[in-house]
Amino acid sequence: MSCITVEAPEMTDNPFAPNPDLKIYLGTEIVPVEKANVSVFDHGLLYGDGVFEGIRVYGGNIFEEKKHLDRLFESARALRLDIPMTRAQLSEAMYETMAANGIAGDGYIRLLVTRGVGLLGIAINRAACPKVIIIADKIALYDPEVYKRGLRCIVSSIVRNHPNSLSPRVKSLNYLNNIMAKCEANDVGADEAIMLNTQGHVAECTGDNIFVVRDGELFTPPPSESVLDGITRGVVMALARDRGIAVHERVLDRHDLYIAHECFATGTAAEVVPITEIDRRPIGDGKPGPITKQLTADFIAYRSK
Ligand SMILES: *Cc1c(COP(=O)(O)O)cnc(C)c1O
Repeated sequence: MSCITVEAPEMTDNPFAPNPDLKIYLGTEIVPVEKANVSVFDHGLLYGDGVFEGIRVYGGNIFEEKKHLDRLFESARALRLDIPMTRAQLSEAMYETMAANGIAGDGYIRLLVTRGVGLLGIAINRAACPKVIIIADKIALYDPEVYKRGLRCIVSSIVRNHPNSLSPRVKSLNYLNNIMAKCEANDVGADEAIMLNTQGHVAECTGDNIFVVRDGELFTPPPSESVLDGITRGVVMALARDRGIAVHERVLDRHDLYIAHECFATGTAAEVVPITEIDRRPIGDGKPGPITKQLTADFIAYRSK
């Protein structure tokens, strides 16, 4: 266990402490990371009340910026959260934060909006001043080995939130549903969890969308199946169609996973990552398949355009 004990509360003793040179956009200004603190009364902290986007920077450009901003505003609208900046201002603030951190090539941006400081009650009219926070850092690349061998997954017993409870289409700061599923996977030595929805259909991984390949065609659940409408998912679907690969948004069962010829996950951080084992069953021949490899190559070519 790597708990941070009361005896060692200093940031410098925390093995997961942020890089002390980071500059953070907080509210209206860019501040050094040690000054980038939010109130203990911020409803983002107290209740997970807020929205976010994880965004890639390739060659100094924000990847699919419009789609990320659209989704951020849609998530905020669903939660009745007023984002205190325009799209143009958010864009400018992201580029300023990149510049302050010397990110001219590849990087990763975490853009979030919290409900802001309020009273202890949960009511949204008891919190004022939603706050924008932007973290821009070099991307910590996943171990290349994982891309070669593929992820080992379990189907989680943690059901994806019911859309009438908290819609999985909202990219909110409340990630507990996904965190519990990830824990379950890691506890049994698996890399990742595949979550089912309340109908028992395949939804998604804990922070990535899922695709299966069967007889050379691509299948992925539609957003109405309790799935976050991933931007990487959309790019990969378009790239597949460009190659003449049929793409179907269709309801999938656990059984469809087991009998898939190939399986992979997509997301901003992971990009395209093969899934080669699910519940101890090898997927296909247990190695990343040809369509997965092709779409990975196509994604790499597309993102660097
Ligand atoms: C962000 C996220 C994804 C992936 O979406 P991208 O836009 O491709 O990064 C998938 N599932 C969940 C639960 C997510 O939060």
